[in-house]
Amino acid sequence: MVQLYGFDIGGTKIEFAVFNQKMEILHVQRMETPKNDYALFLKVITDFIGNQDLKSGELGTIGIGLPGQQIHGGITRCNNIPCIDGRYLQADLEEIVGRPVKIANDANCFALSESFEKSLITSSSVLALILGTGFGAGLVINGDLYEGHNGASLEVGHMRLPCDAQELLGNTVSLVKCRCGQTGCLDHYLSGRGFADLYNHRYSSSDDHVISAEEITRRYYQGDHKAQIHINEYLELLAMSISGLLVVLDPEVVVFGGGLSNFNAIYDKLPELLKKYTLNNRPIPSIRKAAFGDSGGVRGAALLNVTDDGLAAILDS
Ligand SMILES: [Zn+2]
Repeated sequence: MVQLYGFDIGGTKIEFAVFNQKMEILHVQRMETPKNDYALFLKVITDFIGNQDLKSGELGTIGIGLPGQQIHGGITRCNNIPCIDGRYLQADLEEIVGRPVKIANDANCFALSESFEKSLITSSSVLALILGTGFGAGLVINGDLYEGHNGASLEVGHMRLPCDAQELLGNTVSLVKCRCGQTGCLDHYLSGRGFADLYNHRYSSSDDHVISAEEITRRYYQGDHKAQIHINEYLELLAMSISGLLVVLDPEVVVFGGGLSNFNAIYDKLPELLKKYTLNNRPIPSIRKAAFGDSGGVRGAALLNVTDDGLAAILDS
């Protein structure tokens, strides 16, 4: 059966991976992203594809995840990779490789990958939340990605702080101006960076004392008082911030990915905290950690082309 090619394209590197229909990984390759040269960008992508076609003797399907959107009408929007922003990337690639190319937001690819974890494949709805460099999300409903009209759904990082946040964090918390033009976007508070910024804003008197998210969680487990106060506040902020999503979407499962998702206190404490902010007597969704870690993006990109035969192969594997 035909191989599935996946690209996870970021601002610094491109990861290319080849999967069989059981979603077993056959080959992985990485290269620096040409950010400012569109012709070179197209060449890098189509060289990966052409070389793999030659190696396998067949034309694989092509799925691409990137930190942007495929806008209705065909234009790609991607601030992190200037050379593809405003281009007809999908059409240009399809013309060169002579077959369909699917492009989706990288958080959506992550969500798709997690929803195809064997125990979740039959779930009615999987909401994936990323607590990483940014705060992102993707939604899969009955096995299909929900992308919105412009591929721009679930941009949760640009939802803004809930009204209870000021009371929780105190008046000294800074309302950060976001690159989107708004103030108080959740990206600046719930991402790994935001998590560390909140701590350092409160407890570090100078840049010399700024500590990382990793160090804060390490201190938490050592019983450090400040780290414990901070993390309890962060989890409360996370609960109040995502409760609106749960009230609106009522997902069966919520999966957390990104660096902070490895922090087990989320799974111990969040379900109870969420009860305060969601509708009375409604069950809290199952909350779990991402199964595929860093390979989720490229796997989800490849899954943009999964077929019913492929789905059966995954279930049989
Ligand atoms: Zn914003």
